Amino acid sequence: MHRELGLVRDVFSEHVLKRLTGDRAIGHVRYSTAGETHVKNAQPLAVDYALGSLSVAHNGNFTNYDELRSELERSGSIFQSTNDSEILVHLVARAPEPNAVDRVASALGRVRGAFSLVFLTNTELIAVRDPHGFRPLSLGRLKDHWVIASEPTAFDLIAADFVRDIEPGEMLVIDSTGLRTYRPFPKIGRKMCIFEYVYFARPDSELEGLSVYETRKRLGHALAKECPVDADLTIAVPDSGVPAALGYAQASGIPFELGLIRSHYVGRTFIEPQSSIRHFGVRLKLNPVRNTLKGKRVVVIDDSIVRGTTSRKIVKMLRDAGAKEVHMRISSPPTRWPCFYGIDTPSRAELIASNHSIEEIARYITCDTLGYLSLEGLHAAIPGPGFCDACFSGDYPVPFSSQTQQRRQLELIL
Ligand code: SF4
Repeated sequence: MHRELGLVRDVFSEHVLKRLTGDRAIGHVRYSTAGETHVKNAQPLAVDYALGSLSVAHNGNFTNYDELRSELERSGSIFQSTNDSEILVHLVARAPEPNAVDRVASALGRVRGAFSLVFLTNTELIAVRDPHGFRPLSLGRLKDHWVIASEPTAFDLIAADFVRDIEPGEMLVIDSTGLRTYRPFPKIGRKMCIFEYVYFARPDSELEGLSVYETRKRLGHALAKECPVDADLTIAVPDSGVPAALGYAQASGIPFELGLIRSHYVGRTFIEPQSSIRHFGVRLKLNPVRNTLKGKRVVVIDDSIVRGTTSRKIVKMLRDAGAKEVHMRISSPPTRWPCFYGIDTPSRAELIASNHSIEEIARYITCDTLGYLSLEGLHAAIPGPGFCDACFSGDYPVPFSSQTQQRRQLELIL
């Protein structure tokens, strides 16, 4: 095992990769969504227990983590991290079932919330998606081998073929005899994260049969119908706003231009942990194309406004570059509620739309006009049997304890 904080290309040097020998592997490349940013919270987690070795990598958040952790601590468990995923290895180690697969199923019966998981035992690779299917999980094939990834685009990198989405509530077990599928949870309605389509997933991914790129274009179409404006140019906040801006331009007839250029040497603003780095990051990451913007009425498309600080800097950047008017259009509804299912959005106090009207937000970010896509428009553009939209609606499909909520708010403030 090797774990470090940082970018994959820096962490997994030639030297480290040579040391990681074996014929099966799991990995994890996300920030921790529970617990502070520290290497002790980095994944995969790996332990030895009565039945051998167990490693786990988790995308999502457990909403009953605090209760389970207190219960485990009261009965003698000692934790090495503040990562919610660690409760799983304790639950597996304590489960009475005679084999690892049944123990994993039994442990997962106790946790609530969002989880797309991969486990590695001495003999099996186990992949599980929670019954609501909050986070995606995909199955692929590389020659004679099975591969699992959180998004199908990962398969393209290694020239593997996408086979199918792992279904909500499905558990796959892969061992030397092949692949078996189980349904260890009672069937409940799908609540896939709608924000994956708005922002989080890569545009070249296809999730649950929907192209993320085409979906974002449809959001732009709907936005143009709901929030029209007289302007000379449609531009995007790159990269995530580009498909929606193309859709807006097509539907409105206002030509699309590249008015902002992103530096690809710097990571996403969203995941920088400190506000000082985040604020500095806007200028590092985006630069205006002055000749294109000068004297123009610009409609600028972004996928969401979280705190409003980045949007304010972008509007100022566009005006400083000579734009005559700046009209901001957002391809999702106002983000008013935090996520408890694995996306690192800030607390309500920091979400500008939770305590300001659209007019107040427009004044704060200093744009001429501001328009958001409606919740109805969002759902109409993303057809499907069931989505979580709690960060827009406050309608949380899985309840979380007040203890979990308080801890999460505290972490976000810290
Ligand atoms: Fe996705 Fe928002 Fe639901 Fe979180 S609250 S799972 S970001 S839709």
